[in-house]
Amino acid sequence: MTNCLYNLEVEDPYHNVLRELGFEMETIQGEESDAGLGNGGLGRLAACFMDSLACLDMPAYGYGLRYQYGMFRQTIEDGYQKENPDYWLTHGTPFPQVERLDITFPVRFYGHTVAHPVEGTNKSRWGWEGGSTVQAVAYDCLCPGHHTNHVVPIRLWAARPSTEFDLSVHNSGNFLRSVAEKADSENITFVLYPNDSTEEGRLLRLKQEYFFVSASLQDILRRAERIECPFSKLGEKYAVQLNDTHPALGVPELMRLLLDVHGFEWEEAWEVVGSVFSYTNHTVLPEALEKWPLSILVHLLPRHTEIILEINRRFLAVVEAKWPGDIERLQRMSLVQEGSQKMVRMANLAIVASHKVNGVAALHSQIIKDTIFKDFYELWPTKFINVTNGVTPRRWISQCNRPLGEWITETLQSMKVIKEEHEWLQDMSLLKNLLKLESDADTLDAVLDIKRQGKERLCDYIEEHCGVTVSPDMLISTQVKRIHEYKRQLLCLLGLVHQYMALKEMSPEERKEKAVPRCHLFAGKAAPGYARAKVIIKMMNCIADVLNNDPETSDYLKLVFVPNYCVSNAEIIFPGTDVSEQISTAGHEASGTGNMKASMNGAIIIGTLDGANVEIREEIGEENMVIFGAEKHEVLAVRDTYNNGSSTQLSESFAAVLDAVDGGMFGHADLFAKITGELRSGRDFYLLAHDFDGYIQAWEEMFNRFDDQDAWARSMLHSIARMGKFNSDRSIQDYARDVWGIKPQGHEVKARKAALRSAKPVSLFGQ
Ligand SMILES: *Cc1c(COP(=O)(O)O)cnc(C)c1O
Repeated sequence: MTNCLYNLEVEDPYHNVLRELGFEMETIQGEESDAGLGNGGLGRLAACFMDSLACLDMPAYGYGLRYQYGMFRQTIEDGYQKENPDYWLTHGTPFPQVERLDITFPVRFYGHTVAHPVEGTNKSRWGWEGGSTVQAVAYDCLCPGHHTNHVVPIRLWAARPSTEFDLSVHNSGNFLRSVAEKADSENITFVLYPNDSTEEGRLLRLKQEYFFVSASLQDILRRAERIECPFSKLGEKYAVQLNDTHPALGVPELMRLLLDVHGFEWEEAWEVVGSVFSYTNHTVLPEALEKWPLSILVHLLPRHTEIILEINRRFLAVVEAKWPGDIERLQRMSLVQEGSQKMVRMANLAIVASHKVNGVAALHSQIIKDTIFKDFYELWPTKFINVTNGVTPRRWISQCNRPLGEWITETLQSMKVIKEEHEWLQDMSLLKNLLKLESDADTLDAVLDIKRQGKERLCDYIEEHCGVTVSPDMLISTQVKRIHEYKRQLLCLLGLVHQYMALKEMSPEERKEKAVPRCHLFAGKAAPGYARAKVIIKMMNCIADVLNNDPETSDYLKLVFVPNYCVSNAEIIFPGTDVSEQISTAGHEASGTGNMKASMNGAIIIGTLDGANVEIREEIGEENMVIFGAEKHEVLAVRDTYNNGSSTQLSESFAAVLDAVDGGMFGHADLFAKITGELRSGRDFYLLAHDFDGYIQAWEEMFNRFDDQDAWARSMLHSIARMGKFNSDRSIQDYARDVWGIKPQGHEVKARKAALRSAKPVSLFGQ
């Protein structure tokens, strides 16, 4: 709701009208729950992209699933994560989510394939029959763009289970219970799988994926028919971006629709598919690369499996022609992984069918060409491109940090760089003009004051939600993101233990003189089945208990875990962050977008050279970040020295920290022993031991910089002013130009926009 009002530029009148009715805007806003329809960065990226598509007047739609239960709501009980259902639809959805009973499509599962002879030829056409069908019903959510009247819809599909099939199966025994159970388990859009960057090889998940692409592609073909676009020319009018491999079944589905329903020949259909699809890879973690057992696919989607195998047969012939006799390469590139259980590799399917494949940051796009997709890169070098991620400055500056947005607008106006706010939101390179003021004392004061306001707001939130009092005078550092070993929350946590021990060693006078008071904030959800991540959450809370209740040190070091990380509290956390932890093991974070939100709000990054951190450093300058740790090209060799035991000597400080944890300083030593044991024995896949001392030094550097508030303010100004590249508008312009071949809808919209703006404002209540 807030986003709609902001983008429509009607916040103030709306606010006033609510007042007249006796309501406060904040109260109403507080009632709206997040649409938690994704897991983390991937879904949030899609949301930023929808905003940019709307702002740029691009002709586009988003598709998704309308889960009844979105991402779980996290609470902390006795230091452990508890997952609670998120029934976000309880109070309806205050902003337009239009049920479209007129737009429904049947989606089939199971059944068998049949060959129908084609009259007058000796050929046959394949079909798919039997099984059961589910109806997909469309719900449209409208995303208005900022300072335009262009709106892009997100079409969410809800499943309506077909009951005929269910009832006949259960006509004996406990009728009511079995029907209810069946209806639940068969309700494909019941709940989101809460796994981030790991695959859940469950049948219901596969059903969700197919349900999603089948409904969406039927919808696209319906649209094409309506504008009389012949399906042979589909690629001239439609582009489909696969946001990771979850919708990769769209490839055999479009083939099936063209071949079986619309009578295309294979070559003709394949050409259409290649012109329509492109694929974005979001991760190189092996546990995240999606694979499905062939046996399950055959059962659930028999016709699609035939098509996938035929795609593979033809594709392997191409590989064989280029590299005759290279059996190993054929095995690596095949869409089917051989073994006791044959598996279909969804990324390979997506690459083979797409005309463009992209990574999400320069480093990541290079890594996929060098490692996981090397063979494909050698076959099709021009298919592989980079599109660096971005975030929308509407939400992540103007809406979440009003003082900052307004200051930017006023300052650029006073410098005669812009007339209206929307100008810098559309062209964030204009913010570079702010650097002309980098030696101006008032400007630096203003930047510090804006951060102070953000910190006060965050401290209030912490007080309310964690019951811990934090002074906004402290340096506030945050690491907020899904809990994942590769993101290394554990490195940060052990670093805090080190700081705590150092404080304990000091005399009260020394602390007073030397220590920079610091509060660290963690927030993030662990996948319910990710045991290690859940122990790390418990460890954070155990350590927080000790730190916050130590009368000697708690004025100098506090730790809080903010429960239920989500967009709503992210909007409070980033404006209140002094230092943002972006410390993944080099080569493991594809891009990151939290890093961008932090920098745009004037946080200083402590980080590794990973994902988009590399490009952020290029843009804002390495003097405005603190970088440490092994670089991508060193990681394999370092890991090896630990694995093969040639580097078991832990640094003194790292060993001391592990000793403290094992010695029970924070309780639960038995629970944490597995983690510390692995780190001691070199089973340290993410290089914590290797990077630890560098990390500690990086923090020393950070404290020193923080001591000089003038220089600090200047670094903040540089972060704010030089982040233009990471506006998601730029990402969308890259996709539009390099992948989709689309242009803004333009003229007509612009004319209506002008008319709208010149229209008289209407007051609903007289006056
Ligand atoms: C931005 C964002 C993410 C992604 O954060 P990373 O640091 O890039 O992993 C995840 N969840 C929420 C709620 C976000 O706003």
